Amino acid sequence: MDKDAPDHVFLTPELIERFSRQILVKDIGVSGLKKLRSSRVVVIGCGATGTAQAELLARLGIGYIRVVDKDYVDISNLPRTHLYTYIDAKQSIPKAIACANRLSEIDPTIHVEPVITRVTPDNIEDLVRDVDLIIDGTDNLATRFLINDVSIKYGIPWIFVGFSSWYGQVFFINPGKGPCLDCIIPRRILEREERGDACEVLGAVNTAIALVSSIAATLALKHLLGILNDYNTLYVVNGKRLEIHHVRIERNMDCPTCIHRRFEFLAKKGSRRGATRICGSNAVEITPPVKTSLNLEELSKRYEPGKILSVNKYTMRIMVDDIVSIILFNDGRAIIDGVNDEEYAWKLYRRYVLDKMGLGG
Ligand SMILES: [Zn+2]
Repeated sequence: MDKDAPDHVFLTPELIERFSRQILVKDIGVSGLKKLRSSRVVVIGCGATGTAQAELLARLGIGYIRVVDKDYVDISNLPRTHLYTYIDAKQSIPKAIACANRLSEIDPTIHVEPVITRVTPDNIEDLVRDVDLIIDGTDNLATRFLINDVSIKYGIPWIFVGFSSWYGQVFFINPGKGPCLDCIIPRRILEREERGDACEVLGAVNTAIALVSSIAATLALKHLLGILNDYNTLYVVNGKRLEIHHVRIERNMDCPTCIHRRFEFLAKKGSRRGATRICGSNAVEITPPVKTSLNLEELSKRYEPGKILSVNKYTMRIMVDDIVSIILFNDGRAIIDGVNDEEYAWKLYRRYVLDKMGLGG
């Protein structure tokens, strides 16, 4: 039973005590626990489904968890998002940092690495190359098609998790062993999302999110234990009627991605710069022309009293007026909250950020 357990994993008496109930489970035992401790996963997107899965995986004892998110904790996240607190929202703490802090508090013996970034074709390979499994916590198909490309290219499994309102879908994609995302989701749905037709705020019920995330984390657990052997089932969840349907999906034998190995989403390299409206919110994201590293606490001293609503190592919230505020990240990126005009957002960024840094003009 223990013959395939990793030898290098040492379980201290405290860990044996911590996981005593889990070790009693026939499919896990000490050898399963050692497999989980030696596993590495990345959670892409620390929103509702990402944090719920991250918490379950951390408590299961996964040894290494990288959490990636570009955004900060907002008060509207709190009803449906695990791990975050009111204080995180009031201080505009980046989601990756708040998520990593909570996971480390749950289990200081696991390795948790936060990365504050937007996932793009330029950085995704570095974010996933050294893990055993990719967890989907994103809220858009463009990032999921990108994850799918990198998963198939490097042979790293990933779990697709889609969600809105009471309903969700979960699908485990194991490269070469079953369908990939491109086999099951028509690209016209992605194109519609990119045109903005689907760019709306979707409702969400936290109980249904927990149900969907639990299914995804169960698949992650079984895969990492080596006892998952079905890679053709799409789980369709109705969280209102409490139904889980199993839908059998076959591979598309002419799939551009997993059959012909054309990685079109990964090929779209070239960093995005400038101002872009954020889908589903009244906000514009500014990506500065050059990457920088800011000491926000120092920078905050250059503003008039009362203008800085919060400041920490990672973010600073600058008040513009009663409606508009700017959340500046320490790499120079900013979200102009309360504005949907890209040109106006750029003007505010120049006035409230670049001018203060002495880079205006
Ligand atoms: Zn495919």
